[in-house]
Amino acid sequence: MPEEFWKDGLRFECQPNCGACCNQKGEVHVSGPEIHRLATFLRLPTPEFRKRFLRRVHGQHVLQDGAGDACIFLNEKMQCSVYAARPEQCRIYPFWPHILKERLAWDWESLKCPGIGKGEIIPAEEIKRRKTS
Ligand code: SF4
Ligand code: SF4
Repeated sequence: MPEEFWKDGLRFECQPNCGACCNQKGEVHVSGPEIHRLATFLRLPTPEFRKRFLRRVHGQHVLQDGAGDACIFLNEKMQCSVYAARPEQCRIYPFWPHILKERLAWDWESLKCPGIGKGEIIPAEEIKRRKTS
């Protein structure tokens, strides 16, 4: 197996009031426990939460789109309105397996995420933990 390009860590720091990753076309997948967590956070019965905030793609639950291509939970300040209960997919970004596959993918992602290349170096152990959490 080739050595991971991020063996010495990667520089990343989410930028305040950016929201770029939440404001583009995409699918945020949510598991059963995540649906429950989000519904509880919003103090809604789960069936109502499903009706208002979810759609199905290939049989899987994903969050509805909001205005334009934005996620339905992105607010006008470009912040996540369900931050404490946000899905795992959002928590681990940009440490997604396909982005960590090769340097080119990481560099390409930096065109969309201004936090890539900024801040402290996140060590490989921490990246591994996030990637598999
Ligand atoms: S695009 Fe990057 S910097 Fe901007 S909110 Fe998302 S993770 Fe943070
Ligand atoms: S749930 Fe929050 S963090 Fe995830 S895409 Fe939507 S606005 Fe962004």
